[in-house]
Amino acid sequence: MLNQPVTTLKGIGEKLAADLASMAIHTVDDVLFYFPYRYDVFEIKPLDELIHDDKVTIEGRIIHDPSLTFYGKNKSRLSFPVDVEDVAVKAVMFNRGFAKKQLNAGDMVTLTGKWDAHRLQITVNQYKKGPADQQTSIQPIYSIKGNVTSHTIKKTVRNALQTYKDDIIEILPDTYLRSYKLPTRAQATEIMHFPQNRVQLKHARRRFIYEEFLLFQLKMQLLRKSVRESTVGNEQLYDTERVHKFIEQFPFQLTDAQNQAMDQILRDMRSSYRMNRLLQGDVGSGKTAVASACLYASITAGKQGALMVPTEILAEQHVQSLQKTFGNKASIVLLTGSVKGKKRKVLLDKVTDGDIDIVVGTHALIQDDVHFHDLGFAIVDEQHRFGVEQRRVLREKGMNPDVLFMTATPIPRTLAITAFGDMDVSVINEMPSGRKPIETYWVKENTLDRLLRFIGKRVQHGEQTYVVCPLIEESDKLDIQNAVDLYDHLEAFYQNRLTVGLMHGRLSPEEKEHVMKQFVDGDIHVLVSTTVVEVGVDVPNATIMVIYDAERFGLSQLHQLRGRVGRGERPGYCILIADPKSETGKERMRIMTETNNGFELSEQDLKLRGPGDFFGKKQSGLPEFKVADMIHDYRALETARHDAASIIEQDLLHQDPSYQTLNHYLESKDIFYEKLD
Ligand code: ADP
Ligand code: MG
Repeated sequence: MLNQPVTTLKGIGEKLAADLASMAIHTVDDVLFYFPYRYDVFEIKPLDELIHDDKVTIEGRIIHDPSLTFYGKNKSRLSFPVDVEDVAVKAVMFNRGFAKKQLNAGDMVTLTGKWDAHRLQITVNQYKKGPADQQTSIQPIYSIKGNVTSHTIKKTVRNALQTYKDDIIEILPDTYLRSYKLPTRAQATEIMHFPQNRVQLKHARRRFIYEEFLLFQLKMQLLRKSVRESTVGNEQLYDTERVHKFIEQFPFQLTDAQNQAMDQILRDMRSSYRMNRLLQGDVGSGKTAVASACLYASITAGKQGALMVPTEILAEQHVQSLQKTFGNKASIVLLTGSVKGKKRKVLLDKVTDGDIDIVVGTHALIQDDVHFHDLGFAIVDEQHRFGVEQRRVLREKGMNPDVLFMTATPIPRTLAITAFGDMDVSVINEMPSGRKPIETYWVKENTLDRLLRFIGKRVQHGEQTYVVCPLIEESDKLDIQNAVDLYDHLEAFYQNRLTVGLMHGRLSPEEKEHVMKQFVDGDIHVLVSTTVVEVGVDVPNATIMVIYDAERFGLSQLHQLRGRVGRGERPGYCILIADPKSETGKERMRIMTETNNGFELSEQDLKLRGPGDFFGKKQSGLPEFKVADMIHDYRALETARHDAASIIEQDLLHQDPSYQTLNHYLESKDIFYEKLD
């Protein structure tokens, strides 16, 4: 069985087991499905196709015995000529004198290393005696941690496969394997770790992409079905008249898109089934205005409301603006980690007694000691910032409250419906009229000082600026260094004429909040930051967003960063400093300068999507999979969605014996999706 601890495998003791545990590898099953995150492909190409400075693989016959020379302290250099396509290529190898004995004139060898096209020379870092097994060899690359090396993982996987391969049971019914020509689960698992060639690997990946999507879609659609079927009797009988009056007191008219979203939400509230709805719209499109009218509707139905946001500052801002909007129509309180002791207890008692109408807070909202009298409507802002568990707990705070998730992440509509299969989706796709669009410019780095002078002038007029550096995921250190260097440059440039602040991921949450608060209060004029600023804090005086190395961000993230400025009276500017090398990179910058509409942008993005990371994976708000990628493998996702729908419609999981294993797997496995319920 595959759920045995890793220590049952040959050669794995307590120590290694502990190291593996830190990588979330506990069982044999975890080992088998710890897939490489990428592959290095060595392909033997004709000499004249080799590119200077590339890592290449060649095969040939050794012309003379290697000669070994020593230099420096304990350093050696082995060199020998190799006949490749009748051309003498020079091979050099450093500090591997021991290889001299193994390599003799007349031997066939396969060499991998860096190619010097001018000297026809290869600096070898990997060699194999004999010809290459195939024209292509594929090296799996695993992500590793601590004491665990790539080699250890490979050995462990090999071990696990040897003993347990036959225990990897097929979970997909045969019909799918046949109609999509997919390898079995056992075959595909082995291939993922030890691929023989590209074609084989492609099919193994295809299998897991489909499997992941199908499981995901089944989970989503089952969830949605059960929500629809199980919740009855939570109709919120709100007072239409009063809700209308409430909307009329807004100092503006709702846009058509806002009206439509509002109708959809109110209809859900009135119905007996529990709302589970996603409200998408650009920053400033008026989501919160709609949400507050719906909160009010809930209050007129005699219920309480909750609004959960990711940070304390954001919570404070929401309380203030809601209090302004509601006046004496509702009692609204703030509940964050800073509300402690007696104050917290008094507040919680009031919530329990129903003396409070609306609670706004961070995850402090979902602590065990928070009990609502009758929670009817819960809103989760910036939904992708909360984990699955947190959102589930919030939902269970009331008797099936209606839940509205709000997000400013622009996801193409078609994708959103598929990605959030358990939710209904409302979209606000227009901005209130009269809004000044943010002007976006794309410049090169050598204009930085000119730009800084421009910023200096705007600051004299009471405006503020963000300067954002990209997050370099592999290297936290480098990432901070970038921000620190830039901060130093700005400090030197402005001397003491204005205040520059610095924020990055290494600061504690409290420190971050503190810096952000200084910026909100206007004590910092220019804030240099890594991407931690993306959360929707409102700084009305912030008019300029400078994004450094903009080509490193996904389009949707660029757009969200841009949404941080131009929220007040004055026009906003977004300056992209970028020197993209690729055509698509340039295209992305052009799109940014040409469109201000998040949905348009995300549709373009979907079209443009190359092999790359347009959405900037982590920031997309889409769930993440081991092998599959929602954007890249969109067509497989659609197929899986249809298949899941028909499986559920015909109840095949229970009616058809060939679906029994799949059903078991779905039920037994806690399939966990990072970004989604
Ligand atoms: P979001 O939550 O989508 O970022 P908000 O609801 O906070 O947007 O709205 C942003 C700003 O625009 C607020 O100051 C709000 O009062 C204002 N606003 C909202 N809807 C409209 C509208 N239809 N017309 C004009 N201004 C609006
Ligand atoms: Mg309802």
